[in-house]
Amino acid sequence: MAYDSLKQYIGSGFSKALAGDAGVYPASLHTAAEGTAFIAGTGDRDLIIAEITLGFSGNEFEAGGTCWTAAEETHENALVLRERFAFTAPSPILTKERTVGVGDRLGIATPGHIRVFNRYDAYPVFAQQSIRELNLTERDFENVLDCASFAVFRENFTRGFGADGDHLKTPAEVEYALGCGYTMITLDCSEHIRNDAAKMTDDEVLAAYVPDPSLEEKYLGKEFTAGGFPIRFDEASFRRMSLIYNGAIDFAVSIWQRYFEGKENAPDFEISIDETETPTDPAQHFYVASELISRGVRPATVAPRFCGEFQKGIDYIGDVAQFEKEFKEHAAIADHFGYKISVHSGSDKFSVFEIVGRCSGGRFHVKTAGTNWLEAMQVIAEHDPALYREIHKFALDEAFAEATKYYHVTTDLSKIPPLDTLSDQELPSLFGNNDARQLIHITYGLILSKKDADGKYVFKDRLYAAWRKYAEEYADRLEKHIGKHLALLYDGVLASAHTDK
Ligand SMILES: [Zn+2]
Repeated sequence: MAYDSLKQYIGSGFSKALAGDAGVYPASLHTAAEGTAFIAGTGDRDLIIAEITLGFSGNEFEAGGTCWTAAEETHENALVLRERFAFTAPSPILTKERTVGVGDRLGIATPGHIRVFNRYDAYPVFAQQSIRELNLTERDFENVLDCASFAVFRENFTRGFGADGDHLKTPAEVEYALGCGYTMITLDCSEHIRNDAAKMTDDEVLAAYVPDPSLEEKYLGKEFTAGGFPIRFDEASFRRMSLIYNGAIDFAVSIWQRYFEGKENAPDFEISIDETETPTDPAQHFYVASELISRGVRPATVAPRFCGEFQKGIDYIGDVAQFEKEFKEHAAIADHFGYKISVHSGSDKFSVFEIVGRCSGGRFHVKTAGTNWLEAMQVIAEHDPALYREIHKFALDEAFAEATKYYHVTTDLSKIPPLDTLSDQELPSLFGNNDARQLIHITYGLILSKKDADGKYVFKDRLYAAWRKYAEEYADRLEKHIGKHLALLYDGVLASAHTDK
Protein backbone atom coordinates (compact mmCIF):
# COMPACT_ATOMS: atom_id res chain seq x y z
CA MET A 1 0.00 0.00 0.00
CA ALA A 2 1.43 3.35 -1.09
CA TYR A 3 0.70 5.15 2.19
CA ASP A 4 2.88 8.15 1.37
CA SER A 5 1.00 9.02 -1.79
CA LEU A 6 -2.30 8.26 -0.06
CA LYS A 7 -1.42 10.61 2.77
CA GLN A 8 -0.50 13.29 0.28
CA TYR A 9 -3.79 12.81 -1.51
CA ILE A 10 -5.77 13.09 1.73
CA GLY A 11 -3.61 15.95 3.03
CA SER A 12 -4.19 17.93 -0.18
CA GLY A 13 -7.94 17.81 0.39
CA PHE A 14 -8.38 15.02 -2.19
CA SER A 15 -6.64 16.77 -5.07
CA LYS A 16 -7.60 15.12 -8.36
CA ALA A 17 -4.06 15.65 -9.58
CA LEU A 18 -2.75 13.34 -6.83
CA ALA A 19 -5.41 10.63 -7.16
CA GLY A 20 -3.60 8.70 -9.88
CA ASP A 21 -0.35 8.28 -7.93
CA ALA A 22 -2.28 7.09 -4.90
CA GLY A 23 -4.21 4.51 -6.97
CA VAL A 24 -7.48 6.24 -6.07
CA TYR A 25 -10.53 5.63 -8.23
CA PRO A 26 -11.61 9.25 -8.75
CA ALA A 27 -15.37 8.53 -8.80
CA SER A 28 -15.17 6.64 -5.50
CA LEU A 29 -14.76 9.70 -3.26
CA HIS A 30 -17.88 9.98 -1.09
CA THR A 31 -18.77 11.76 2.10
CA ALA A 32 -21.46 10.53 4.49
CA ALA A 33 -22.60 12.05 7.78
CA GLU A 34 -19.94 10.02 9.61
CA GLY A 35 -17.01 10.84 7.34
CA THR A 36 -15.29 10.49 3.99
CA ALA A 37 -14.28 7.31 2.15
CA PHE A 38 -12.89 6.28 -1.21
CA ILE A 39 -11.38 3.24 -2.88
CA ALA A 40 -7.73 2.85 -3.83
CA GLY A 41 -6.16 0.05 -5.82
CA THR A 42 -2.99 -1.59 -4.56
CA GLY A 43 -1.10 -4.01 -6.74
CA ASP A 44 -3.34 -7.01 -6.36
CA ARG A 45 -6.57 -5.68 -4.82
CA ASP A 46 -8.71 -2.70 -3.93
CA LEU A 47 -9.01 -1.25 -0.44
CA ILE A 48 -11.58 1.06 1.12
CA ILE A 49 -9.85 4.06 2.60
CA ALA A 50 -12.18 5.59 5.14
CA GLU A 51 -12.17 7.97 8.05
CA ILE A 52 -12.18 5.89 11.20
CA THR A 53 -15.50 7.42 12.25
CA LEU A 54 -17.22 5.41 9.48
CA GLY A 55 -16.55 2.20 11.35
CA PHE A 56 -14.73 0.01 8.81
CA SER A 57 -12.28 -2.59 10.13
CA GLY A 58 -8.70 -2.43 8.88
CA ASN A 59 -5.25 -0.94 9.35
CA GLU A 60 -5.31 2.49 10.90
CA PHE A 61 -3.13 5.41 9.83
CA GLU A 62 -2.94 9.18 10.27
CA ALA A 63 -3.41 11.58 7.38
CA GLY A 64 -4.51 15.20 7.00
CA GLY A 65 -4.84 15.49 10.77
CA THR A 66 -7.40 12.69 11.19
CA CYS A 67 -7.37 8.97 11.68
CA TRP A 68 -8.10 6.68 8.69
CA THR A 69 -8.66 3.00 8.06
CA ALA A 70 -7.36 0.99 5.10
CA ALA A 71 -10.06 -1.67 4.96
CA GLU A 72 -10.20 -4.89 2.98
CA GLU A 73 -13.27 -5.58 0.83
CA THR A 74 -14.66 -8.14 3.24
CA HIS A 75 -18.29 -9.06 3.91
CA GLU A 76 -18.12 -7.30 7.28
CA ASN A 77 -16.95 -4.09 5.60
CA ALA A 78 -19.60 -4.43 2.88
CA LEU A 79 -22.23 -4.39 5.62
CA VAL A 80 -20.74 -1.16 6.95
CA LEU A 81 -20.61 0.32 3.44
CA ARG A 82 -24.30 -0.41 2.77
CA GLU A 83 -25.23 1.03 6.16
CA ARG A 84 -23.30 4.27 5.65
CA PHE A 85 -23.87 4.78 1.92
CA ALA A 86 -27.43 3.75 1.16
CA PHE A 87 -26.99 3.75 -2.62
CA THR A 88 -24.64 0.77 -2.32
CA ALA A 89 -27.50 -1.37 -0.99
CA PRO A 90 -29.82 -3.01 -3.52
CA SER A 91 -33.50 -2.09 -3.73
CA PRO A 92 -36.60 -3.50 -5.44
CA ILE A 93 -36.54 -2.09 -8.98
CA LEU A 94 -38.73 -4.35 -11.10
CA THR A 95 -41.61 -1.88 -11.12
CA LYS A 96 -39.46 0.45 -13.23
CA GLU A 97 -40.37 0.37 -16.92
CA ARG A 98 -37.18 -1.28 -18.08
CA THR A 99 -34.92 -3.48 -16.05
CA VAL A 100 -32.01 -5.62 -17.15
CA GLY A 101 -30.27 -8.31 -15.12
CA VAL A 102 -26.64 -8.71 -15.98
CA GLY A 103 -25.19 -10.72 -13.12
CA ASP A 104 -21.50 -11.16 -12.55
CA ARG A 105 -20.10 -14.66 -12.27
CA LEU A 106 -16.59 -13.46 -11.47
CA GLY A 107 -17.26 -10.49 -9.18
CA ILE A 108 -15.38 -8.10 -11.48
CA ALA A 109 -17.90 -7.20 -14.20
CA THR A 110 -19.95 -4.47 -12.54
CA PRO A 111 -17.67 -1.50 -13.41
CA GLY A 112 -18.04 -2.35 -17.11
CA HIS A 113 -21.79 -2.87 -16.75
CA ILE A 114 -22.12 0.51 -15.04
CA ARG A 115 -20.71 2.22 -18.13
CA VAL A 116 -23.68 0.84 -20.08
CA PHE A 117 -26.34 1.75 -17.52
CA ASN A 118 -24.97 5.28 -17.34
CA ARG A 119 -26.20 5.65 -20.92
CA TYR A 120 -29.72 4.14 -20.62
CA ASP A 121 -32.66 4.63 -18.27
CA ALA A 122 -33.02 0.88 -17.67
CA TYR A 123 -32.34 -0.15 -14.07
CA PRO A 124 -29.73 -2.84 -13.60
CA VAL A 125 -29.71 -6.00 -11.54
CA PHE A 126 -26.00 -6.30 -10.87
CA ALA A 127 -26.17 -9.21 -8.44
CA GLN A 128 -27.98 -12.05 -10.14
CA GLN A 129 -26.88 -15.57 -9.47
CA SER A 130 -28.55 -18.94 -9.36
CA ILE A 131 -27.61 -21.52 -6.75
CA ARG A 132 -26.10 -23.54 -9.59
CA GLU A 133 -23.84 -20.62 -10.51
CA LEU A 134 -22.89 -20.06 -6.86
CA ASN A 135 -21.88 -23.69 -6.51
CA LEU A 136 -19.98 -23.74 -9.78
CA THR A 137 -18.04 -20.56 -8.98
CA GLU A 138 -17.55 -21.48 -5.28
CA ARG A 139 -19.17 -18.19 -4.24
CA ASP A 140 -22.10 -17.33 -2.00
CA PHE A 141 -24.94 -14.80 -2.14
CA GLU A 142 -23.13 -12.55 0.34
CA ASN A 143 -20.03 -12.32 -1.83
CA VAL A 144 -21.97 -11.72 -5.04
CA LEU A 145 -23.84 -8.80 -3.49
CA ASP A 146 -20.74 -7.43 -1.77
CA CYS A 147 -18.87 -7.26 -5.08
CA ALA A 148 -21.75 -5.29 -6.58
CA SER A 149 -21.87 -2.89 -3.62
CA PHE A 150 -18.12 -2.18 -3.77
CA ALA A 151 -18.28 -1.60 -7.53
CA VAL A 152 -21.28 0.71 -7.27
CA PHE A 153 -19.41 2.74 -4.65
CA ARG A 154 -16.19 2.78 -6.66
CA GLU A 155 -17.91 3.97 -9.83
CA ASN A 156 -20.43 6.28 -8.09
CA PHE A 157 -23.51 4.60 -9.52
CA THR A 158 -26.16 6.11 -7.25
CA ARG A 159 -29.38 5.48 -9.20
CA GLY A 160 -30.18 2.14 -7.59
CA PHE A 161 -29.78 -1.50 -8.54
CA GLY A 162 -31.41 -4.82 -7.80
CA ALA A 163 -30.09 -8.09 -6.39
CA ASP A 164 -31.75 -11.24 -7.73
CA GLY A 165 -31.67 -14.65 -6.11
CA ASP A 166 -32.06 -16.28 -9.50
CA HIS A 167 -33.81 -19.57 -10.21
CA LEU A 168 -34.47 -20.49 -6.59
CA LYS A 169 -36.28 -23.77 -6.22
CA THR A 170 -36.97 -24.32 -2.53
CA PRO A 171 -38.14 -22.36 0.53
CA ALA A 172 -34.66 -22.77 2.03
CA GLU A 173 -33.05 -21.14 -1.01
CA VAL A 174 -35.55 -18.28 -0.92
CA GLU A 175 -34.82 -17.73 2.78
CA TYR A 176 -31.11 -17.76 2.15
CA ALA A 177 -31.32 -15.05 -0.54
CA LEU A 178 -33.75 -12.92 1.45
CA GLY A 179 -31.55 -13.24 4.53
CA CYS A 180 -28.63 -11.84 2.52
CA GLY A 181 -30.66 -8.75 1.61
CA TYR A 182 -31.58 -9.74 -1.93
CA THR A 183 -34.35 -7.52 -3.29
CA MET A 184 -35.67 -9.89 -5.92
CA ILE A 185 -36.51 -13.56 -5.89
CA THR A 186 -36.88 -15.52 -9.10
CA LEU A 187 -38.89 -18.57 -8.20
CA ASP A 188 -38.08 -21.46 -10.48
CA CYS A 189 -41.16 -23.66 -10.63
CA SER A 190 -39.62 -26.28 -12.92
CA GLU A 191 -39.61 -29.03 -10.29
CA HIS A 192 -43.37 -28.59 -9.95
CA ILE A 193 -44.11 -28.56 -13.66
CA ARG A 194 -45.15 -31.90 -15.11
CA ASN A 195 -43.16 -32.02 -18.31
CA ASP A 196 -44.25 -35.57 -19.05
CA ALA A 197 -47.83 -34.36 -19.50
CA ALA A 198 -46.76 -32.30 -22.51
CA LYS A 199 -45.90 -35.51 -24.35
CA MET A 200 -48.85 -37.69 -23.29
CA THR A 201 -51.56 -38.73 -25.72
CA ASP A 202 -55.01 -37.25 -25.09
CA ASP A 203 -56.08 -40.59 -23.60
CA GLU A 204 -53.14 -40.66 -21.22
CA VAL A 205 -53.93 -37.09 -20.17
CA LEU A 206 -57.53 -38.07 -19.54
CA ALA A 207 -56.42 -40.98 -17.36
CA ALA A 208 -54.08 -38.85 -15.27
CA TYR A 209 -56.33 -35.79 -14.98
CA VAL A 210 -58.31 -35.19 -11.80
CA PRO A 211 -61.16 -32.81 -12.62
CA ASP A 212 -61.59 -29.68 -10.51
CA PRO A 213 -65.21 -28.59 -11.15
CA SER A 214 -64.65 -24.99 -10.08
CA LEU A 215 -61.68 -24.58 -12.43
CA GLU A 216 -63.52 -26.24 -15.28
CA GLU A 217 -66.46 -23.96 -14.79
CA LYS A 218 -64.19 -20.95 -14.76
CA TYR A 219 -62.30 -21.72 -17.96
CA LEU A 220 -63.87 -24.41 -20.12
CA GLY A 221 -65.70 -23.12 -23.14
CA LYS A 222 -65.13 -19.56 -21.97
CA GLU A 223 -63.48 -16.89 -24.05
CA PHE A 224 -61.11 -14.35 -22.55
CA THR A 225 -59.24 -11.45 -24.05
CA ALA A 226 -55.89 -9.92 -23.14
CA GLY A 227 -54.90 -6.78 -25.02
CA GLY A 228 -57.28 -7.66 -27.84
CA PHE A 229 -56.00 -11.23 -28.18
CA PRO A 230 -58.70 -13.86 -27.74
CA ILE A 231 -57.86 -16.76 -25.41
CA ARG A 232 -59.95 -19.94 -25.48
CA PHE A 233 -59.70 -23.20 -23.61
CA ASP A 234 -60.94 -26.38 -25.20
CA GLU A 235 -61.38 -29.47 -23.08
CA ALA A 236 -58.38 -31.48 -24.24
CA SER A 237 -55.85 -28.69 -23.98
CA PHE A 238 -57.31 -27.53 -20.66
CA ARG A 239 -56.82 -30.95 -19.10
CA ARG A 240 -53.27 -31.14 -20.38
CA MET A 241 -52.50 -27.63 -19.18
CA SER A 242 -53.87 -28.35 -15.70
CA LEU A 243 -51.66 -31.39 -15.46
CA ILE A 244 -48.57 -29.50 -16.54
CA TYR A 245 -49.00 -26.32 -14.49
CA ASN A 246 -51.25 -26.84 -11.44
CA GLY A 247 -48.38 -28.02 -9.25
CA ALA A 248 -46.31 -24.98 -10.23
CA ILE A 249 -49.20 -22.64 -9.43
CA ASP A 250 -49.68 -24.20 -5.98
CA PHE A 251 -45.96 -23.91 -5.31
CA ALA A 252 -45.80 -20.24 -6.33
CA VAL A 253 -48.84 -19.46 -4.18
CA SER A 254 -47.27 -21.14 -1.15
CA ILE A 255 -44.00 -19.19 -1.53
CA TRP A 256 -45.90 -15.95 -2.04
CA GLN A 257 -47.97 -16.43 1.09
CA ARG A 258 -44.99 -17.40 3.18
CA TYR A 259 -42.47 -14.71 2.22
CA PHE A 260 -44.17 -11.86 0.39
CA GLU A 261 -47.83 -11.38 1.20
CA GLY A 262 -48.46 -8.41 3.48
CA LYS A 263 -44.73 -7.81 4.05
CA GLU A 264 -43.52 -4.24 4.24
CA ASN A 265 -40.83 -3.41 1.65
CA ALA A 266 -41.46 -6.79 0.09
CA PRO A 267 -38.86 -7.80 -2.45
CA ASP A 268 -39.71 -8.20 -6.13
CA PHE A 269 -41.22 -11.56 -6.96
CA GLU A 270 -40.56 -13.13 -10.34
CA ILE A 271 -42.13 -16.41 -11.31
CA SER A 272 -40.23 -18.43 -13.85
CA ILE A 273 -41.81 -21.21 -15.84
CA ASP A 274 -39.14 -20.99 -18.53
CA GLU A 275 -37.18 -24.14 -17.80
CA THR A 276 -39.77 -26.47 -19.26
CA GLU A 277 -39.42 -28.89 -22.13
CA THR A 278 -42.08 -27.30 -24.30
CA PRO A 279 -42.75 -23.61 -24.96
CA THR A 280 -45.45 -21.94 -22.87
CA ASP A 281 -48.25 -21.13 -25.30
CA PRO A 282 -50.17 -17.90 -24.69
CA ALA A 283 -53.27 -19.72 -23.39
CA GLN A 284 -51.12 -21.56 -20.84
CA HIS A 285 -49.48 -18.31 -19.78
CA PHE A 286 -52.93 -16.73 -19.40
CA TYR A 287 -54.18 -19.62 -17.28
CA VAL A 288 -51.16 -19.63 -14.96
CA ALA A 289 -51.35 -15.85 -14.54
CA SER A 290 -55.08 -15.84 -14.03
CA GLU A 291 -54.85 -18.49 -11.30
CA LEU A 292 -51.94 -16.76 -9.57
CA ILE A 293 -53.69 -13.41 -9.52
CA SER A 294 -57.01 -14.83 -8.37
CA ARG A 295 -55.21 -16.53 -5.48
CA GLY A 296 -53.67 -13.23 -4.38
CA VAL A 297 -50.17 -13.52 -5.84
CA ARG A 298 -48.74 -10.25 -7.19
CA PRO A 299 -45.71 -11.09 -9.29
CA ALA A 300 -43.56 -8.22 -10.55
CA THR A 301 -42.54 -10.30 -13.55
CA VAL A 302 -43.28 -13.67 -15.11
CA ALA A 303 -40.90 -15.53 -17.41
CA PRO A 304 -42.63 -17.95 -19.77
CA ARG A 305 -40.68 -20.19 -22.07
CA PHE A 306 -40.89 -18.65 -25.52
CA CYS A 307 -40.95 -20.55 -28.78
CA GLY A 308 -37.60 -21.27 -30.39
CA GLU A 309 -34.40 -21.81 -28.45
CA PHE A 310 -32.72 -19.48 -25.98
CA GLN A 311 -29.42 -21.27 -25.61
CA LYS A 312 -26.61 -19.86 -23.52
CA GLY A 313 -24.27 -17.35 -25.10
CA ILE A 314 -25.50 -17.44 -28.70
CA ASP A 315 -28.22 -15.78 -30.76
CA TYR A 316 -31.85 -16.87 -30.85
CA ILE A 317 -32.50 -20.10 -32.74
CA GLY A 318 -35.94 -20.32 -34.31
CA ASP A 319 -38.58 -18.57 -36.37
CA VAL A 320 -38.30 -14.86 -35.59
CA ALA A 321 -41.71 -14.04 -37.10
CA GLN A 322 -43.34 -16.71 -34.93
CA PHE A 323 -41.49 -15.36 -31.91
CA GLU A 324 -42.80 -11.86 -32.61
CA LYS A 325 -46.36 -13.09 -32.99
CA GLU A 326 -46.30 -15.04 -29.69
CA PHE A 327 -44.24 -12.46 -27.80
CA LYS A 328 -46.92 -9.84 -28.51
CA GLU A 329 -49.50 -12.10 -26.92
CA HIS A 330 -47.31 -12.90 -23.92
CA ALA A 331 -46.60 -9.20 -23.38
CA ALA A 332 -50.33 -8.41 -23.68
CA ILE A 333 -51.13 -11.06 -21.07
CA ALA A 334 -48.50 -9.59 -18.73
CA ASP A 335 -50.02 -6.13 -19.21
CA HIS A 336 -53.50 -7.47 -18.65
CA PHE A 337 -52.54 -8.92 -15.28
CA GLY A 338 -50.32 -6.00 -14.26
CA TYR A 339 -46.80 -7.37 -14.35
CA LYS A 340 -43.87 -7.16 -16.76
CA ILE A 341 -42.79 -9.84 -19.15
CA SER A 342 -39.39 -11.32 -18.35
CA VAL A 343 -37.00 -12.80 -20.89
CA HIS A 344 -34.38 -15.21 -19.58
CA SER A 345 -31.13 -16.45 -21.13
CA GLY A 346 -31.11 -13.12 -22.97
CA SER A 347 -27.38 -13.01 -23.68
CA ASP A 348 -26.67 -12.45 -27.37
CA LYS A 349 -30.30 -12.76 -28.52
CA PHE A 350 -29.60 -9.97 -30.97
CA SER A 351 -32.17 -11.03 -33.56
CA VAL A 352 -35.09 -10.66 -31.12
CA PHE A 353 -34.15 -7.70 -28.87
CA GLU A 354 -35.82 -5.10 -31.07
CA ILE A 355 -39.03 -7.18 -30.92
CA VAL A 356 -38.80 -7.43 -27.11
CA GLY A 357 -38.35 -3.66 -26.78
CA ARG A 358 -41.12 -2.81 -29.23
CA CYS A 359 -43.76 -5.45 -28.56
CA SER A 360 -43.56 -5.03 -24.79
CA GLY A 361 -44.34 -1.34 -25.27
CA GLY A 362 -40.97 -0.57 -23.71
CA ARG A 363 -41.76 -2.48 -20.49
CA PHE A 364 -39.60 -5.52 -19.92
CA HIS A 365 -37.17 -7.37 -17.74
CA VAL A 366 -34.34 -9.04 -19.63
CA LYS A 367 -31.72 -11.24 -18.02
CA THR A 368 -28.48 -11.25 -19.93
CA ALA A 369 -26.45 -13.12 -17.37
CA GLY A 370 -23.40 -15.09 -18.14
CA THR A 371 -21.62 -13.72 -21.15
CA ASN A 372 -19.56 -11.37 -18.99
CA TRP A 373 -17.57 -14.56 -18.41
CA LEU A 374 -17.08 -15.06 -22.16
CA GLU A 375 -15.89 -11.48 -22.52
CA ALA A 376 -13.45 -12.10 -19.69
CA MET A 377 -12.12 -15.19 -21.45
CA GLN A 378 -11.71 -13.23 -24.65
CA VAL A 379 -9.42 -10.86 -22.75
CA ILE A 380 -7.32 -13.92 -21.86
CA ALA A 381 -7.27 -15.17 -25.46
CA GLU A 382 -5.93 -11.81 -26.55
CA HIS A 383 -3.38 -11.18 -23.83
CA ASP A 384 -2.27 -14.56 -22.57
CA PRO A 385 -2.60 -17.00 -25.46
CA ALA A 386 -0.63 -19.71 -23.66
CA LEU A 387 -3.02 -19.69 -20.72
CA TYR A 388 -5.98 -19.58 -23.05
CA ARG A 389 -4.73 -22.65 -24.89
CA GLU A 390 -4.38 -24.60 -21.65
CA ILE A 391 -7.91 -23.72 -20.61
CA HIS A 392 -9.44 -24.41 -24.00
CA LYS A 393 -7.82 -27.82 -24.07
CA PHE A 394 -9.07 -28.60 -20.56
CA ALA A 395 -12.58 -27.50 -21.51
CA LEU A 396 -12.57 -29.66 -24.61
CA ASP A 397 -10.95 -32.79 -23.16
CA GLU A 398 -12.38 -32.87 -19.63
CA ALA A 399 -14.91 -30.24 -18.69
CA PHE A 400 -17.41 -30.16 -21.55
CA ALA A 401 -18.84 -33.65 -21.05
CA GLU A 402 -19.40 -32.90 -17.37
CA ALA A 403 -20.95 -29.46 -17.97
CA THR A 404 -23.52 -30.75 -20.44
CA LYS A 405 -25.07 -32.67 -17.56
CA TYR A 406 -26.54 -29.39 -16.28
CA TYR A 407 -26.51 -27.03 -19.29
CA HIS A 408 -28.68 -27.67 -22.31
CA VAL A 409 -26.75 -26.89 -25.50
CA THR A 410 -26.52 -28.34 -29.00
CA THR A 411 -22.79 -27.70 -29.33
CA ASP A 412 -20.97 -29.53 -32.13
CA LEU A 413 -17.37 -29.80 -30.94
CA SER A 414 -16.23 -30.92 -34.38
CA LYS A 415 -17.01 -27.44 -35.70
CA ILE A 416 -14.42 -25.84 -33.44
CA PRO A 417 -11.13 -25.37 -35.28
CA PRO A 418 -8.34 -27.41 -33.60
CA LEU A 419 -6.13 -25.18 -31.45
CA ASP A 420 -2.91 -26.21 -33.22
CA THR A 421 -4.24 -24.83 -36.50
CA LEU A 422 -4.66 -21.36 -34.99
CA SER A 423 -1.94 -18.78 -34.47
CA ASP A 424 -1.99 -16.76 -31.24
CA GLN A 425 -3.44 -13.83 -33.17
CA GLU A 426 -6.27 -16.03 -34.40
CA LEU A 427 -7.33 -17.26 -30.94
CA PRO A 428 -9.82 -14.42 -30.27
CA SER A 429 -11.65 -15.42 -33.47
CA LEU A 430 -12.85 -18.51 -31.58
CA PHE A 431 -15.31 -16.21 -29.80
CA GLY A 432 -17.04 -15.63 -33.12
CA ASN A 433 -17.68 -19.37 -33.41
CA ASN A 434 -20.92 -20.44 -31.70
CA ASP A 435 -19.68 -23.90 -30.82
CA ALA A 436 -16.46 -22.55 -29.30
CA ARG A 437 -18.49 -19.92 -27.40
CA GLN A 438 -20.69 -22.58 -25.88
CA LEU A 439 -17.75 -24.80 -25.05
CA ILE A 440 -16.19 -22.04 -22.94
CA HIS A 441 -19.50 -20.64 -21.74
CA ILE A 442 -20.80 -23.70 -19.96
CA THR A 443 -17.49 -24.99 -18.57
CA TYR A 444 -16.76 -21.93 -16.40
CA GLY A 445 -17.31 -23.68 -13.10
CA LEU A 446 -14.98 -26.56 -13.86
CA ILE A 447 -12.34 -24.18 -15.20
CA LEU A 448 -12.46 -21.93 -12.14
CA SER A 449 -12.50 -24.72 -9.59
CA LYS A 450 -9.92 -27.04 -11.19
CA LYS A 451 -7.22 -27.90 -8.66
CA ASP A 452 -3.92 -29.75 -8.95
CA ALA A 453 -2.69 -32.61 -6.75
CA ASP A 454 -1.54 -30.12 -4.07
CA GLY A 455 -4.96 -28.52 -3.88
CA LYS A 456 -3.86 -25.36 -5.71
CA TYR A 457 -6.05 -23.78 -8.35
CA VAL A 458 -4.81 -24.66 -11.81
CA PHE A 459 -6.29 -21.64 -13.63
CA LYS A 460 -8.21 -19.42 -11.22
CA ASP A 461 -5.42 -17.36 -9.67
CA ARG A 462 -3.69 -16.74 -12.99
CA LEU A 463 -7.02 -15.74 -14.52
CA TYR A 464 -7.86 -13.22 -11.81
CA ALA A 465 -4.35 -11.73 -11.96
CA ALA A 466 -4.73 -11.23 -15.72
CA TRP A 467 -8.23 -9.78 -15.37
CA ARG A 468 -6.94 -7.28 -12.83
CA LYS A 469 -4.09 -6.30 -15.12
CA TYR A 470 -6.46 -5.79 -18.07
CA ALA A 471 -9.41 -4.45 -16.06
CA GLU A 472 -9.80 -1.36 -18.21
CA GLU A 473 -9.98 -3.41 -21.37
CA TYR A 474 -12.45 -5.82 -19.78
CA ALA A 475 -14.73 -2.93 -18.81
CA ASP A 476 -14.43 -1.64 -22.34
CA ARG A 477 -15.40 -5.00 -23.80
CA LEU A 478 -18.42 -5.29 -21.49
CA GLU A 479 -19.52 -1.78 -22.37
CA LYS A 480 -19.54 -2.74 -26.05
CA HIS A 481 -21.04 -6.20 -25.57
CA ILE A 482 -23.86 -5.37 -23.14
CA GLY A 483 -24.21 -2.00 -24.86
CA LYS A 484 -25.16 -3.82 -28.04
CA HIS A 485 -27.96 -5.62 -26.15
CA LEU A 486 -29.33 -2.35 -24.81
CA ALA A 487 -29.00 -0.52 -28.12
CA LEU A 488 -31.20 -3.09 -29.87
CA LEU A 489 -33.73 -3.23 -27.03
CA TYR A 490 -33.98 0.57 -27.16
CA ASP A 491 -34.45 0.55 -30.95
CA GLY A 492 -37.63 -1.34 -30.11
CA VAL A 493 -38.53 0.95 -27.20
CA LEU A 494 -38.28 3.99 -29.49
CA ALA A 495 -40.31 2.29 -32.22
CA SER A 496 -43.07 1.45 -29.74
CA ALA A 497 -43.14 5.01 -28.42
CA HIS A 498 -43.71 6.24 -31.99
CA THR A 499 -46.46 3.84 -32.98
CA ASP A 500 -48.42 3.21 -29.79
CA LYS A 501 -49.64 6.50 -28.51
ZN1 LIG B 1 -34.41 -18.71 -16.65
